[in-house]
Amino acid sequence: MSHSSQAVQIRQHGGPEELQLVDVSVGEPGPGQIRIRHHAIGLNFIDVYQRSGLYPQNLPVQLGMEAAGVVEAVGEGVTHLQVGDRAAYASNPPGSYCERRVMPAMCVCKLPDAISFETGAAMMLKGLTAQYLLKKTLPQGGLQPDDFVLFHAAAGGVGLIASQWAKALGLQLIGTAGSAEKCALALANGATHAINYAAEDFVARVKQITGGAGVKVVYDSVGKDTFEKSLDCLRPFGLLASFGNASGPVPPFAPGVLGAKGSLYLTRATLFTHIATRESTQAMADDLFAVVASGQVKIHIGQRYPLAQVQQAHRDLEARKTTGCTILTL
Ligand code: NDP
Repeated sequence: MSHSSQAVQIRQHGGPEELQLVDVSVGEPGPGQIRIRHHAIGLNFIDVYQRSGLYPQNLPVQLGMEAAGVVEAVGEGVTHLQVGDRAAYASNPPGSYCERRVMPAMCVCKLPDAISFETGAAMMLKGLTAQYLLKKTLPQGGLQPDDFVLFHAAAGGVGLIASQWAKALGLQLIGTAGSAEKCALALANGATHAINYAAEDFVARVKQITGGAGVKVVYDSVGKDTFEKSLDCLRPFGLLASFGNASGPVPPFAPGVLGAKGSLYLTRATLFTHIATRESTQAMADDLFAVVASGQVKIHIGQRYPLAQVQQAHRDLEARKTTGCTILTL
C-alpha cells in the first residue's frame, strides 16, 4: 500500500529557488526500515551545502537531515521501535523535508515523553553534534573544568546548544558571533565571553581573555573566513576541530603550519562517523536527552516556517538572519 506525502526536492544544485514542493508516494518499509509521519522538521546548514552542490548529491534528491514524528510502520528486523512510538532522528542519507518517509531505522531514536516533537526535530542533528564535539573531540589530556575553548557562530543552532552544554561541563566557552545582539544571546546561554567577530579582531581578544595563553580547543564551523586565525587562538598542543564551511570551504593548507604554531592538532570532524552504529547513536542521544530533560540545555527555536516556505528558510539561514534552531512545520 502506498501513502501520499508532500516533499521538498531539488532537481539540480543551485540557490533556494531549486527547492520545489512535490507530491511523492511512500511505500512500506523493507528490512531494517521504518515509515515515520513527521510532526516537525529541523533545518540545518548542511542542507544548504547539499542544495548548493558543495556536498554533491545524486539528483533529484529530497533534502533534510533531521525530524521528529510518529512511527507508522516497522520493517522486518527492527526491534528498538514499534508502531505508535514518538521518535526523532538525525539521518544520513537526506530526505526529512516531507510529511512522511521510509528510512533506515538505525538512526532513529525513541523520543522521551518530556521532549516535544518540535524540540526533538530541532535538536537531534545539532545536539548530537554538540555532544561529540564537547565530549568526544578532545585535546591531548582531555578538557577539565575552567579550561578555555573557542566556539565560532555561538548564537547559531549548534552554537547555542554547545554554549549551554559547555557551561554544564564547567568550561569557559568564548563564543564568536556576527552582531552585538547575537553576542548577548550567546552570553545568556552559557558562553562566559562573547566576541563580535564582525567588529573585533577575535585573535587579539582571545589572547586578552586567556592572559596570552590561548585556548585548548577551537570549534570552527565557519571555515574559510576563520580557519587561519583560529589556529592563532590555540595554545601549544591545542586542537582545531574544523566541522563546517558556512563561509566556504577551507583552502588547501600545509601541515607544517601546525608545527610552526606550536605542535597543534587538526581534525575535520563529522557527526556521521559518530552515528555510524545504532549503539553509539543511542548512547549519544541518551546523553542529549538527559541534558535537555535536566534543563541544563534548553533548545532555543528561533524561527518556524511552514514546509512550503522552505525557500525563505534557506535564504534567512544563509543571510545569517537566524539564531538558535530553525524548524519547518507541517
Ligand atoms: P547556524 O545556525 O550556526 O548557522 C550558521 C552560522 O554561521 C550563521 O548564523 C552565522 O552566524 C555563521 N556564519 C559565519 N560566516 C557565515 C557566512 N559567510 N554565511 C553564513 N553564515 C555564516 O547553522 P547550524 O547550527 O545548522 O550549523 C552550524 C555549523 O556547524 C554549520 O557550518 C554546519 O555545517 C556545521 N555542522 C557540522 C556538523 C559536523 O558534524 N561536521 C554537524 C552539524 C553542523 P554569525 O552571523 O554569528 O557569524
